[in-house]
Amino acid sequence: MSDPRTTAAPAVPAASQTTELAALTGRLQAHVRTLAGEIGERNVFHPQALRAAADYLRAQWASQGYQVVSQSYEADGVRSENLEVTLPGASQPGEIIVIGAHYDSVSGSPGANDNASGVAALLELSRALAQAKPARTVRFVAFVNEEAPFFDRGEMGSMVYAKAARARGDNIRLMVSLEMLGYYSDAPGSQRYPPLFGFFYPDRANFIGFVSNFASRRPLREWLQAFRSHSDFPAESLATFEFVPGVAWSDHLPFWREGYPALMVTDTAFYRYPHYHSHRDTPDQLNYPAIARVVMGLQAALTAMASRPGRSE
Ligand SMILES: [Zn+2]
Repeated sequence: MSDPRTTAAPAVPAASQTTELAALTGRLQAHVRTLAGEIGERNVFHPQALRAAADYLRAQWASQGYQVVSQSYEADGVRSENLEVTLPGASQPGEIIVIGAHYDSVSGSPGANDNASGVAALLELSRALAQAKPARTVRFVAFVNEEAPFFDRGEMGSMVYAKAARARGDNIRLMVSLEMLGYYSDAPGSQRYPPLFGFFYPDRANFIGFVSNFASRRPLREWLQAFRSHSDFPAESLATFEFVPGVAWSDHLPFWREGYPALMVTDTAFYRYPHYHSHRDTPDQLNYPAIARVVMGLQAALTAMASRPGRSE
């Protein structure tokens, strides 16, 4: 499962691509600074900050030309909302790709990597695709209440969303959860693993990970292939048991529960990030040029999955 290409030297990007990357890097950093720096800890215990984060998302998506839809409900007496924008499918509008990230942060943390980095990527993917005409429908969703005490409970934003999708009979062909995309290291031994996995994967934390259960291994493989064919950023994939610690710990879990294929995009969180769920998870810890390269690869993967009717069952 480990791919030797991950250690290949990166190609030299063309000048226009360098400019594009620099601009993307700046926008990603601005999103993270606003969410984790200015707004800070955002959850039901800090409802004003949670609302400020939602308002920021709404304003960003409105400026990209999207119509923002809110799915609102109460959690512990606090109004909570998932926010969504949609790119309608040109030829297969009933086949849906959902890509999402949670915008709340865990109690006691400003949540720069967890998960302002995922939200920043989500905002830049929607911007990049705003004028696209994919075959399938693409929904960009910002989920609320992923962190404790809501994880895997009825008030978890992605659970509310996935249950409603199943009740409507939505034909979701793939759900992708963006969960912590910001921390990388080239130091030997910087990457840790659950027991046994370290024998098969690199020991340097310089790659982006794609993770799924066994049922979603086919779309996982397609996603990895599409990413690698458009990006020289190191990428690793893992399809394994849901009980392996961390594998199910994000917004893709409720989609698995509802029988939808889903995968997680992650820097592997606590397997490499020293400031996981800490007050030190601040904007200055993240590698923005690396996130930008990851986002460009994700854009290619998302575009490929959105233009493949009939695939990825
Ligand atoms: Zn998280």
